[in-house]
Amino acid sequence: MNSLIPFNRPFIAGKELHYIAQAVTLGNISGDGEFARRCTSIMEERFGIKKILLTPSCTAALELSAMLLDIQPGDEVIMPSYTFVSTANAFVRVGAVPVFVDIRPDTLNLDARLVELAITEKTKAIVPVHYAGVSCEMDLILTLAEKYDLKVIEDAAQGVNAQYNQKYLGSLGQLGCFSFHETKNFICGEGGALCLNSEELIDRAHIIRDKGTNRQAFFQGQVDKYTWCDIGSSFVLSELNCAFLYAQLEMFDEINQRRKEIFDYYQHSLLPLEKNQQLRLPCVPEDCLSNHHMFYILLPNKTLRDGLLNHLKQLQIHAVFHFVPLHSSPMGKTWGYQHGDLPVTEQAADCLLRLPFFYEITTEEQQRVVDEIHKFLQLSLQKVNSEKQVFQVADIRNVE
Ligand SMILES: *Cc1c(COP(=O)(O)O)cnc(C)c1O
Repeated sequence: MNSLIPFNRPFIAGKELHYIAQAVTLGNISGDGEFARRCTSIMEERFGIKKILLTPSCTAALELSAMLLDIQPGDEVIMPSYTFVSTANAFVRVGAVPVFVDIRPDTLNLDARLVELAITEKTKAIVPVHYAGVSCEMDLILTLAEKYDLKVIEDAAQGVNAQYNQKYLGSLGQLGCFSFHETKNFICGEGGALCLNSEELIDRAHIIRDKGTNRQAFFQGQVDKYTWCDIGSSFVLSELNCAFLYAQLEMFDEINQRRKEIFDYYQHSLLPLEKNQQLRLPCVPEDCLSNHHMFYILLPNKTLRDGLLNHLKQLQIHAVFHFVPLHSSPMGKTWGYQHGDLPVTEQAADCLLRLPFFYEITTEEQQRVVDEIHKFLQLSLQKVNSEKQVFQVADIRNVE
């Protein structure tokens, strides 16, 4: 009997409980204590980010961004539809209208060429989502933002420790948002961070994050009593989570290295199937350094994707697919979007399958996954020898 291969297993670096015990002993367990300081300074230094504020989730960091940038009812915010709900929700909850733009067929990232067409008088911001830890074309996006005076908030939930042209994701827009949810590369249960790259946003970010009070200035001795100064919420990450996170961030390089090995193994052993046009593998453009957040494959059509998903499930191998495109969700439809509006997004949602991917997956387990994919596609090839419409990659990167 085959043992279960889960889709994800949260990785424990080793010193998490030790540091949590230390946080408890130190006495400050609410937030912005010793471990928050250690986590943020490791990341600020490594990523070249002016100021990082830890938040209870990436969702919270995105919500804080919308408040900080004063996004108003009726403002338009450009984003992909092929993303997690929080990307849109953060802006929708302050009254903004999400403007969904299609993705590139190769990286499945926001198609920067379509962004300009979506800009109107009401556009306030662009939210590039770095899918799978592979950067969007930030040069193009930042140029557009400058030309039309728009804010850029990077949804780098999946992009912690990944790079674009030698710069770390999260350091490129005015704001960047990280996730440390247990499904991401570096984890603390639930957690996130707001990356601030412009000096003038930092003071207000502190205030909004701390219930709209100037408590930060009070702690620093700048005022003798703290008070209600602005809108705000409770967006400080608990020190217990920070202690957990610190144990993970100490292992940046080990975690990165191991994820690269897992990724390369899948890539290498599935390459014959791509050569044979039976599936498509992830694409990492030359100016991007991936953090190997996930490994996905694109099947020729939904029938084969669902078939493979079920085949693997019966063998106790848990693969998953995502996202249900936001534009064709019940909420998306309230802005008049409908199925058919964003063809590349819809094709990705139909054809993509994410393979089991976690630090402790063994080579034997990976080989089992690969063998079953080979077997399934061999069988289906015999069944329908006619269908050969692999997810098309137009190499639009070279077409200027
Ligand atoms: C995981 C994820 C989020 C949400 O992160 P949380 O920390 O769970 O709030 C947002 N955007 C994207 C693209 C994600 O993958």
